[in-house]
Amino acid sequence: MTHAKVIWPPYPYEAGFCITDDPDASTFAQTRAVYDLLLLRSFVTTKAVWAFNPAEKCGIPAIPDSALRGVTLDDDRYLSYCKELYQQGVELCLHGASSGNNKRDRTRDALELFAADLGASDTYICHSKNAENIYWEDKITSLFPFHALLRRYSKHTCEGELEGSAYYWGDLCHARINQIRLYRTRCRNTLKRNPSMPYHDPRKPLVNGWFSATKRSMADCATEDAINRLKQEYGLTVLYQYLHRYADPGTGKLNERFVQSVERISSDPKIFVRTVSSIMKRLRQMQAVYTIHQGKSLWIVNLSDEDTEHIQIVADRPLDVETGDNSMVTYGRLLVVKTLVKKSLKKVRVSDRIALFGRNALEAGRDKHVTCTLPFGKLQVNLSGNEWPVAEGGTIPPESFRVTTRESGTGIPLLSVLSDSEERGLIMDQSVSIAREVIFKGRSLNVDTYLDNSRAIPLEDHDNW
Ligand SMILES: [Zn+2]
Repeated sequence: MTHAKVIWPPYPYEAGFCITDDPDASTFAQTRAVYDLLLLRSFVTTKAVWAFNPAEKCGIPAIPDSALRGVTLDDDRYLSYCKELYQQGVELCLHGASSGNNKRDRTRDALELFAADLGASDTYICHSKNAENIYWEDKITSLFPFHALLRRYSKHTCEGELEGSAYYWGDLCHARINQIRLYRTRCRNTLKRNPSMPYHDPRKPLVNGWFSATKRSMADCATEDAINRLKQEYGLTVLYQYLHRYADPGTGKLNERFVQSVERISSDPKIFVRTVSSIMKRLRQMQAVYTIHQGKSLWIVNLSDEDTEHIQIVADRPLDVETGDNSMVTYGRLLVVKTLVKKSLKKVRVSDRIALFGRNALEAGRDKHVTCTLPFGKLQVNLSGNEWPVAEGGTIPPESFRVTTRESGTGIPLLSVLSDSEERGLIMDQSVSIAREVIFKGRSLNVDTYLDNSRAIPLEDHDNW
């Protein structure tokens, strides 16, 4: 018996790497020093930016003004540099319209500005305690006991999802944004801790999708060991960073370990380095790929309305398959489907009995009728040679399928949700990460102390993470 599984990266990659880069306290000179290097190495990232200088304080009640520091697109030099970055493949997304609270008009204007000149990214990163942050503070989770703890200890009001609030933009979010960053982990393989990402949370209907990020230094995630392990696990690092801090604010000189890390990752031919949006898109496409096995037969199904390229199936032994056409190739233990056409089903004959495992692996029974419950719908596949009359009415023709799903506000099927146990794990990861900073690195839990301008903030140095 051959055992196999579908892996998410497109052929020929074995793992992925992307960065969300926050602009907090950044200067133009530092940003340029870092991005000149990244462009030189063709290392694309997702850079969160503020469209405007702040008009209000950050947070209700307000937190210290140190949260307002950082260059914005109101600086013409920075704006033209960001346009250039976008032309070169960097993704620019909003970190809120500004570093202070943003009323609806400002968020809308910022989204319009991006749509006109900077690529209308579908990724969004919330900033600190901004009042327009959506499902934030005590609304992050409804799990016991975390929700009760957050209710007791969070002191700030965030209202992005509240229709009628001056800070409401939930409808714009629903229509334009596909993913927002939420939980943080120290695990280098972010996908291992959050395999369902990007996921929809039905208790937060105005946000189409959420993803997690790894909070560690770049050098930590780019050791030879870390990279090898990431590839062995077919993993993905979504790194949470303040990249400008790798450039000296006075001289612009880059941190040597950062430079080496960029080189090590970008020169590895097996690592898929892309923007957050394109990696999340790939993950979403793969959420729509299902496999069904029975005996020596394997069917690969694409539920989505898009063709999916370079799908990889890895087996525990060399594969001998018969596909009837040249749409697939095998390389030893690897089967590559060059293109799986939208809303299609492909049959593969294998010389040995085969079983797939993983999230979207199904097994056919003797009648060759397969029913699978999706988060917001159902998949029914008829692999037999006869029509299948189904209880819902109508029939499913031979060798075809029927799928019902719910769509996001941007029109893509919602195929993934976060289980309670996965969420509990992510909350624990984030709690451990904060506790570690409090116990070993001197971080204060009080945001006023943490962000106090008069103190040095060594914590925000990546080597302290
Ligand atoms: Zn921020």
